[in-house]
Amino acid sequence: MRPFVFINVASSVDGKISNERRVQVRISCEDDFRRVDELRAKSDAIMVGIGTVLSDNPSLNVKSQELRMARLRDGREQNPIRVVVDSMCRVPLNAKVLDKSARTIVAVSESADMERVEKVGKLCEVFISGKRKVDLKALLKYLYSIGVRILMVEGGATLNWALLRENLVDEIYVYYGDIIIGGANSPTVVDGESFENPIKLELIGFERVGRGVLTRWRVLK
Ligand code: NAP
Repeated sequence: MRPFVFINVASSVDGKISNERRVQVRISCEDDFRRVDELRAKSDAIMVGIGTVLSDNPSLNVKSQELRMARLRDGREQNPIRVVVDSMCRVPLNAKVLDKSARTIVAVSESADMERVEKVGKLCEVFISGKRKVDLKALLKYLYSIGVRILMVEGGATLNWALLRENLVDEIYVYYGDIIIGGANSPTVVDGESFENPIKLELIGFERVGRGVLTRWRVLK
């Protein structure tokens, strides 16, 4: 058993999610930030890859106090569980995800340096699986076992690819902002190697949000 998994990503019209320097680019607008915050508030856990933590240092918490209070009223924690997929345990000790403001799980592989794992383990929970890379199936199974039913994935490009490759994604929401970023080496919605057989999707919704367009897709199995 695994949670319902959806990816939410903001992309430029040319499919890039950041620039060649991999620094955060403002793609969304205020309306979209609010939509993303609502998605976070509805989710049991938010997952990112270590690449995203190293380049963007996100907090992954719900920004709106109103939404956090609504979660509390529903008997939930203010913020969803934060999950970082980080085979070698490279997460900086001063990363926002380790600030103890929400339950946090750093998922590492058996190849991670154990001294480092111990240090990170003082700041959050550490889940060990996989020889060189985190075993994503085992991680999702574990998340389900601790009560996670809805998992929101907020990138980046490589984690999106790895989850899709292992057939672990149910839906993808792509917000296209009104910009073109360019750059052959800029990260895209899905990086990694191309799929021998392209993954097929079904369009389940589209709407104008602020100055861009939100598209929602179901992954066909
Ligand atoms: P990423 O997808 O965030 O993280 C990828 C890393 O996860 C891998 O390099 C790998 O590093 C680790 N990993 C652990 N287990 C894995 C597994 N089983 N399979 C694959 N990877 C595994 O990094 P990224 O591709 O570099 O993307 C980061 C970029 O995306 C940044 O530029 C950021 O700004 C951008 N971004 C944009 C958005 C948006 O919505 N616009 C959202 C998020 C991020 P280890 O081997 O060291 O573990």
